[in-house]
Amino acid sequence: MALIVHKYGGTSMGSTDRIRNVAKRVAKWARAGHQMVVVPSAMSGETNRLLGLAKDLSPASITPEAMRELDMIAATGEQVSVGLLALALQAEGLDAVSYTGWQVPVATDSSYTKARIESIDDARVRADLSAGKVVVITGFQGVDEDMNITTLGRGGSDTSAVAIAAAMKADECLIYTDVDGVYTTDPRIVPEARRLHTISFEEMLEMASLGSKVLQIRSVEFAGKYRVPLRVLSSFTPWDIDINEEAKSGTLITFEEDEKMEQAVVSGIAFNRDEAKVTLLGVPDKPGIAFQILGPVADANIDVDVIIQNVSQEGKTDFSFTVHRNDYQRTMELLEKTVGPAVQAAKVLGDARICKVSIVGIGMRSHVGIASKMFRSLSEEGINIQMITTSEIKTSVVIDEKYMELAVRTLHRAFELDQAPAA
Ligand code: ASP
Ligand code: MG
Repeated sequence: MALIVHKYGGTSMGSTDRIRNVAKRVAKWARAGHQMVVVPSAMSGETNRLLGLAKDLSPASITPEAMRELDMIAATGEQVSVGLLALALQAEGLDAVSYTGWQVPVATDSSYTKARIESIDDARVRADLSAGKVVVITGFQGVDEDMNITTLGRGGSDTSAVAIAAAMKADECLIYTDVDGVYTTDPRIVPEARRLHTISFEEMLEMASLGSKVLQIRSVEFAGKYRVPLRVLSSFTPWDIDINEEAKSGTLITFEEDEKMEQAVVSGIAFNRDEAKVTLLGVPDKPGIAFQILGPVADANIDVDVIIQNVSQEGKTDFSFTVHRNDYQRTMELLEKTVGPAVQAAKVLGDARICKVSIVGIGMRSHVGIASKMFRSLSEEGINIQMITTSEIKTSVVIDEKYMELAVRTLHRAFELDQAPAA
């Protein structure tokens, strides 16, 4: 008997028929003798619908007070889901109970719309499991220390599931979704993309942070920190397929490099359209300048990604960085009104039509010439690189958004990801 956490995405929860299927699948696992905790997302489209309603009434919902209400509204989608799933499980003849984030409770900080989980008290859930119940817990939400409802950011149910699995020391966390695993890149852009049977946790972390939408990045961080065995698999297989076959399907995120069976140098190509670039021209090149620029940006809770500072000329330099496109307006305002004047920038520029394309692979640690092969392939297609950033296991370039698909296809081919790696 194992303690298993299942997470179901919005598509899997998209209709009462699908919810019934989820219930049958969970029932299969429960009847095989496992203790089951299930974390569903809101029904597909529901979070967008709710946030759309909010936007109708408050187009510029960026005040902290408005953000609090956004979370109040968005969190309801998951509350409906857990209630429906618990009912469906009961209809399958199981003992099931649902909880919202605050009932567990899942304690978070107070950063509305992107709160971080701080702790999870699993006493109530454990008691239910011991009493033979299936426990259904809302994804995406928690509660801060003042009892305000918070949400974890879009896609946050993955993080809820992994955090719950970590807190409860679950034997495995299975993320059921509308794709059947992690691919070398998005098959909608490259039809030849292949499913990986395993991917190392570090690669997954890069892939998630670089824009692969399969898992929310924080869920991977959690999985890494607490070493939660994590598997991404399809929720569209028939619910009654053999449980052992199901348990081996999808993509397993592994922790040991040598467990990794597929030894390609580059494991995947990630891309991200959701970025925007800002530049401060002609800022004085002196100690503290990066801090003077990025300090206020961090204080405004804006995540910065790629950062470039140029070599200075006559004591002046240019400073560029990228932010999420949702934060673009806010960042530009901040730079134009306060930061730019404060650092005596000659000019503030912005470009929201960029994207980032990255190659990822732990094999890059031990192979040279990988980045140059990437640059050569892009240049052969006439794609101009605006920014470059690297880590041990990835190289990313910022390019014009209109070349994104071409770049992804080119790199997928260049690194032979369409071919199964030699065993
Ligand atoms: N329902 C939330 C969203 O759409 C959370 C999730 O599905 O993971 O972002
Ligand atoms: Mg999701």
